[in-house]
Amino acid sequence: MRVVVTGAAGGIGEAITARFVSDGARAFLVDLDPSVAALLGSRADGVAGWAVADVSCVEDVNAAMQEVLVSLGGIDVVVNCAGIGGPASTAATMDPGDFRRVVEVNLVGTFLWSRAGARQMLRQATGGAIVNVASLFGQQGVVGGAAYGASKAGVSLLTQSMARELGPHGIRVNAVAPGHIATEMHWDELRARAARTGTSFEVERQKVLREVPLGRHGTGTDVAAVVAWLASDDAAYVSGQTIGVNGGVLGS
Ligand code: NAP
Repeated sequence: MRVVVTGAAGGIGEAITARFVSDGARAFLVDLDPSVAALLGSRADGVAGWAVADVSCVEDVNAAMQEVLVSLGGIDVVVNCAGIGGPASTAATMDPGDFRRVVEVNLVGTFLWSRAGARQMLRQATGGAIVNVASLFGQQGVVGGAAYGASKAGVSLLTQSMARELGPHGIRVNAVAPGHIATEMHWDELRARAARTGTSFEVERQKVLREVPLGRHGTGTDVAAVVAWLASDDAAYVSGQTIGVNGGVLGS
């Protein structure tokens, strides 16, 4: 299996890369963070190449795709994991430039890499799978989440539309919607909440734990397991879905 993972240097993206490589896949990694290059050596033969590229920039995507084809020779799976958190402000006070940047990275970036992957899969005519990373906060609106939530809700609907368009070509398109996952992005959010409400990081962390029926934060490995399943033949009849990986927050 030949896999492209964006956001591969981040908490969840690195876990997704590790899972695919340990399952025997060959991976090409994309991230804005140059430390993505370090994964080349640390994942033995499974990591075939990497690119430091902005997922929201068409020129970067086109250049990275050339590298992907040299390294992998084709694409069976694209995982769109690159993303950024939103500004802490409410919609009424939000800077339009901040709103646009979140949508550019989280939604337009997912579109650009899905489009590039789909074009290559259509050329190959061997089917394939696209797995997007949406969010719990793209499934329910929260105070301070206007930009991020709108971008991630967009990812879920992009997923549905592309599943309908590409299904006749044997290409499945799905998304995962992680809940509270223990990564720097989530800890930053808790620090911002603590600053906004005058509490502390630990108070905010405990609040989150009380919301989660399974009583713990998720891990990148929890998310990677569902991504790997969606990319596999075990999910051969699953397309157009957004699967929550949230410890039961929206489960009942
Ligand atoms: P993370 O640790 O911040 O990882 C995100 C990675 O994406 C970083 O390496 C980041 O690079 C990279 N990135 C950001 N903007 C990019 C761009 N324009 N082009 C290419 N790469 C870019 O965050 P994470 O928690 O692993 O999140 C991964 C995904 O899961 C995101 O889409 C996020 O929205 C989603 N998610 C996370 C949670 C959670 O609780 N953590 C919950 C729901 C959904 P830099 O570090 O250089 O910016």
